Amino acid sequence: MNDLANKVAIITGAASGIGRAAAISLADKGMKVALVDLNADDLEEVKATINNKGQVAISLEANVAEPTSIQRAIDETVEKWQQIDTVFINAGINGAVSSIEDLTPSEWDNTIETNLKSTFLTVKYSVPFMKTNGGSIIITSSINGNRIFKNFGMSAYSTSKAGQVAFGKMAALELAQYKIRVNMICPGAIDTNIEKNTFKDEKHLEEIAIPVEYPEGNQPLSHQSGSAQQVADLVYFLSSDLSSHITGTEVYIDGAESLL
Ligand code: NAD
Repeated sequence: MNDLANKVAIITGAASGIGRAAAISLADKGMKVALVDLNADDLEEVKATINNKGQVAISLEANVAEPTSIQRAIDETVEKWQQIDTVFINAGINGAVSSIEDLTPSEWDNTIETNLKSTFLTVKYSVPFMKTNGGSIIITSSINGNRIFKNFGMSAYSTSKAGQVAFGKMAALELAQYKIRVNMICPGAIDTNIEKNTFKDEKHLEEIAIPVEYPEGNQPLSHQSGSAQQVADLVYFLSSDLSSHITGTEVYIDGAESLL
């Protein structure tokens, strides 16, 4: 039996992409998984996929940027299973892609709140339930804002992703006393739906000669985007005792894309 069997994971952004793959992987390892997302329809599909294999999942529709909403999802998980062992903080958006001049204050706030404030909120409301037994918190950051700064028009996104790493390191330091580990995953381009959900002001970016291409496929190791499953494998490693001495660090998973 592996060390995750019958333990409890909360996964945000579980309806799609990396979160979906991680939820399925952790359930395959025997964890009970609480699936959190704004997208209720797709959440049900993921829950059914897991339940149909005889594994345990619940779906919790919530907005991770809203304190009462994410707190309720965490509380419901604990009411159901009385513990939390892994928290995978993964919900996120690219947000508006725009020059700094054109980016509106509300677009800036939306990206920062969805990606960064939500990270603080999810940690804040999970920690009270993890202090007794310890556990693993994993945050999906990015190569953007940490190793590379070449995606024009993504100033808010890059700031939010850099902020997640800084916050995660402070959390690792503070929570070590409770045996709660906190680590960050920094993916390069991963083949998910995130681009589909991105608003790009292409006309304006063209006018000011900002390239809007993203480095899809620009990965020296494989010459293609990574897969959500490859990130899910890392989430498993960081959840399990295999990583029991690892905290406060970021792991780049990008096929060397950020080294170009
Ligand atoms: P995705 O769009 O496939 O999945 C993101 C999920 O987050 C969606 O199901 C969406 O509904 C959910 N979500 C968005 N806002 C939410 C909110 N306020 N409350 C609850 N749920 C919300 O994208 P993905 O690629 O799987 O992204 C997962 C994470 O990976 C994000 O944090 C993203 O920034 C990060 N990331 C992705 C890539 C990539 O190339 N795909 C690269 C680096 C980092």
